This record gives sequence, C-alpha cells and structure tokens, in this order.
Amino acid sequence: MRISDILRTKGDNVVTVPPDLPVEGLVSKLAHHRIGAAVVSRDGATVDGIVSERDVVRALAERGPAVLAEPVSTIQTTQVRTVSPEAQLEDVERLMTEHRFRHVPVVVDNRLAGVVSIGDVVKNRIDELESERSTLADYITGDRS
Ligand code: AMP
Repeated sequence: MRISDILRTKGDNVVTVPPDLPVEGLVSKLAHHRIGAAVVSRDGATVDGIVSERDVVRALAERGPAVLAEPVSTIQTTQVRTVSPEAQLEDVERLMTEHRFRHVPVVVDNRLAGVVSIGDVVKNRIDELESERSTLADYITGDRS
C-alpha cells in the first residue's frame, strides 16, 4: 500500500507550530488536537523541524517547568525524516522501527502533504490483514463471489 492511499482516506491536514511558539502553547495544541507531535514550520508549509510529546517530557525532566516558557525551537528535532506520497507503507514502518519515532511527515516539492503516525500504520496493517483473511476464508469455503 502506498502512502498516498492512506492520505486519501485520512486527509492531508497537518498541525504545524511556528518555531517561536512557547512550549506551553505547543502542549495546549497537542492536547486540543489529541495528537502526539506537530511539525515546526515558519510558513505552515515547509518543514523546519518536528516536536513531539517525548521532547516536552525530556525537556521537563532535564530543565524543569521553566521550559514551558521557552520557544518550541529549543526542544525540536531539526533532522526530520520525511517520505513522499509514492513511498510504501513498509518504508514508513521501517523508518519508524529503525529510528524509534512514531510520526513521519509526507512532503511534495519541499511542502507538507500530510503526516503518517504509528496509529495510521497499525490501522492500515490491520485492515490489510483483515482483507487477506476474508479473501482466504472465502477461498476455503468456496465463496468466490
Ligand atoms: P515520536 O515517537 O514521534 O513521539 O518522536 C520521538 C522523537 O523523535 C522526538 O524527539 C521527535 O522530535 C523525533 N521525531 C519524531 N518524528 C520524527 C521524524 N519524522 N524525523 C526525525 N525525528 C522525528
């Protein structure tokens, strides 16, 4: 399955935050949208970084609550791994497993075209397995309509 197939059903909406947003604002945004990460972007389209709940937890543990007033740019990851819509679901699974992150922005011509989370990966894997199981069951029982 291609990433473009996943985006067709889930949509291309990506929550972005500007690099100067205080971490406190990021926390509110993550909670409001019920998500675990946001792309850091100055113009809402290009990827300058990514920041996830893990970055917030790590910064809080290392520097204490004062970090909530600091800009998001102080806790973001700037070396962001992205994929194109032509990538396969397996490519994203491999990236997430190798690098131990749960979000991968999708980019076309350096502009955001969506984001795939580990939740999307698991959902689509389960759907694929269910469809295979149902085809096999029909084959075994002779129901090939
Ligand atoms: P996550 O598992 O997505 O919450 O992120 C774990 C760590 O990886 C955090 O430090 C994130 O900033 C970073 N991270 C998340 N997604 C990516 C990505 N696509 N490329 C590089 N780093 C990432």
